[in-house]
Amino acid sequence: MFYIHCPYCAERRSEEEFHCMGQAHIQRPKNPEAASDREWGDYLFFRDNPRGLHQEMWVHAAGCRKFFNVARNTVSYEILETYRIGEQTSVTVGTAAHGREGKVDQAHEVQGVRA
Ligand SMILES: [Zn+2]
Repeated sequence: MFYIHCPYCAERRSEEEFHCMGQAHIQRPKNPEAASDREWGDYLFFRDNPRGLHQEMWVHAAGCRKFFNVARNTVSYEILETYRIGEQTSVTVGTAAHGREGKVDQAHEVQGVRA
């Protein structure tokens, strides 16, 4: 089991309270009327599946029920940062690869660690 920090409740809670809702920061076509079938297809169906840093949307289903974003390493399962919808992560591929350096330190004290 691991723990996730909800940026709205400002509490570190069990993973069982949360659900992953897939990739974060999916951009809807800016002009829907003019979007091609290919653009709609990309928006609706295609998602990144990286090895390493990935931004995901999660929901605190058994808590405040709010959606928020998680920067997670898909190899180690380490959660590097959680942040509110509308915000951007401070974690980059470079900082994620180097683990607990720089801004990532700040995130670790409130993030989940596998037990
Ligand atoms: Zn919450």
